Amino acid sequence: MAMKKNLRILVAGGAGFLGSWLCRRLVGEGHDVICVDNFFTSQKKNVADLLACPNFELIRHDVTAPLLLEVDQIYNLACPAAPGHYQFNPIKTMKTSLLGAIHLLGMAKRCRARILQASTSEVYGDPEVHPQREDYRGSVNTLGVRACYDEGKRAAETLFMDYYRMHRVNIKIARIFNTYGPGMHPFDGRVISNFIRQGLQGEPITIFGTGEQTRSFCYCTDLIEGLVRLMNSEDDDFTGPVNLGNPKEYTILELAKHVAKALGRDENREENFVFKPLPEDDPHRRQPDITLARERLGWEPAVPLEEGLAETIGWFKGIDIDSYRPPTPQY
Ligand code: NAD
Ligand code: UDP
Repeated sequence: MAMKKNLRILVAGGAGFLGSWLCRRLVGEGHDVICVDNFFTSQKKNVADLLACPNFELIRHDVTAPLLLEVDQIYNLACPAAPGHYQFNPIKTMKTSLLGAIHLLGMAKRCRARILQASTSEVYGDPEVHPQREDYRGSVNTLGVRACYDEGKRAAETLFMDYYRMHRVNIKIARIFNTYGPGMHPFDGRVISNFIRQGLQGEPITIFGTGEQTRSFCYCTDLIEGLVRLMNSEDDDFTGPVNLGNPKEYTILELAKHVAKALGRDENREENFVFKPLPEDDPHRRQPDITLARERLGWEPAVPLEEGLAETIGWFKGIDIDSYRPPTPQY
């Protein structure tokens, strides 16, 4: 897969968990990287190590407003991703998905840039088909509390396809499944960050529902490799969507025991776990079918859960958790 050198690359949402991994990778490859972020769910320190690099630029900007830049590639990751974050201001979440896509697609059209959308397994909703393939159309409750995110991402996919059909904009759509690793916001409420933070602070691990619901967890560096491969896949008509995730499926209860064990806590001790009600519309099962990514991108995850958890726990141990703040109100 040939990758041109010295591209001008915009990473919208580049200061976030995945965005900062992507910026680091692209800066390391020698590209001119522009990171655009409004720091809603992130902080500047996530990219502090890049600020001194001459090929890295950081712009505080909200993608719901237009912006004028000249670039060769655009990764659109700008959107809160954790349920607690995207439900904090659901109207804003929908605006971010829609207006962000419109502004960045307009930029791609004007600059003839290639643009990749970070879509999500949430477009499948609470799936009736298992594992999920890209041709499954999903089962989303349009009226529920997750819809601001799910429907925003679905509409963004539609906009991407319409810019492709109408204006021949060079698009790629990645459907990302649960991804974790160092750099996650410790208070984002996502399952791996929550479990690790609770475990480290000596609190019981909170399992929602019975813990029988499943997810499949991809380590961040594997995911970034998939995104970069998709962006640089040569066939302009290979738009995706392409599932990117780790096909190994775990129940949340199994995950809780893995995390407890990795933290040196007794995974058989009941007091180490506490059961809480299952949030509304929480999907029961989720597992990607990654046949398409394997065939078209030669991609599959390489990092097993135990290894990824050890890295993530090591990072959490090294940070000052109290220096992270919850999302800033956006009115
Ligand atoms: P994150 O919350 O850490 O990163 C999102 C970034 O976007 C943050 O830096 C945030 O400040 C920024 N942002 C939010 N609204 C913005 C706006 N209006 N203007 C500019 N910047 C804005 O989440 P993440 O896990 O890094 O997710 C990145 C992308 O990948 C998101 O689009 C998300 O939907 C998608 N995704 C992630 C996962 C996952 O498991 N991590 C799964 C599926 C999809
Ligand atoms: N979950 C949990 N305890 C927590 C946080 C999450 O049991 O402290 C569950 C949640 O109900 C869901 C799964 O873990 O079934 C994954 O949640 P997350 O918010 O990470 O992502 P989702 O895949 O639901 O968007």
